[in-house]
Amino acid sequence: MIRATDVNKFFGDLHVLKDINLEVPRGQVVVVLGPSGSGKSTLCRAINRLEPINSGEIAVDGKPLPAEGKALAALRADVGMVFQSFNLFAHKSIVDNVMLAPVKVRKVGSGEARKTAMELLERVGIANQAEKFPAQLSGGQQQRAAIARALAMKPKVMLFDEPTSALDPEMVQEVLDTMTGLAADGMTMLVVTHEMGFARRAAHRVVFMSDGEIVEDSTPDDFFTSPKSERAKDFLGKIL
Ligand code: ATP
Ligand code: MG
Repeated sequence: MIRATDVNKFFGDLHVLKDINLEVPRGQVVVVLGPSGSGKSTLCRAINRLEPINSGEIAVDGKPLPAEGKALAALRADVGMVFQSFNLFAHKSIVDNVMLAPVKVRKVGSGEARKTAMELLERVGIANQAEKFPAQLSGGQQQRAAIARALAMKPKVMLFDEPTSALDPEMVQEVLDTMTGLAADGMTMLVVTHEMGFARRAAHRVVFMSDGEIVEDSTPDDFFTSPKSERAKDFLGKIL
């Protein structure tokens, strides 16, 4: 579903993605781990072309990433992205936030878009918050609204970049539970997170990045119980 082949990315002289080869098959959940600055966010952003790459190829659902124009807009619609910050529109209600892109980009009628939005809000457990504004919700509820908003575009893949890092601890679990539910429904997911419990429970694979490279790509069990590289051992020693 996602295939990155020999991807390289520089910021000036800084080589931030080094010959990245990564495949996320349909229905798989891949968790990306690694120290700060290892290139995890850059990889996510490259996958939906928020960042251009210098060489290599990234394909989503068999289609190479287009550089621009309508094809790029279509690809972006196939790839849902959820960030650390929720980026909801402050002056719109929660349900309006979820409806917006389907109406504007997919040209869905507003009645149908609202119905779908309410179903998604039900799915993420905040249907009772639909008419409120983002500032009236807790961080966990806002992040679940952001997930519903991404799902409203019916993406083929969901990318998550540290979706729980900005949340108070008591709200982390509700967002992880929502993500676990999505995974159980068969969504293809690439998830950057420091939540090791989620990685152990929900991931089919763990990809460990360090200094712009994929150093390990294994099952969660293998990664957590017998990391092969010194860099992964060092990383795990610091966080577990
Ligand atoms: P973190 O865990 O802190 O979020 P990360 O693994 O997501 O880190 P990236 O944000 O992908 O790391 O950054 C990788 C490297 O690229 C870092 O050295 C960072 O300073 C650099 N970098 C990221 N964005 C830019 C940018 N827009 N311009 C220049 N350098 C950048
Ligand atoms: Mg990051």
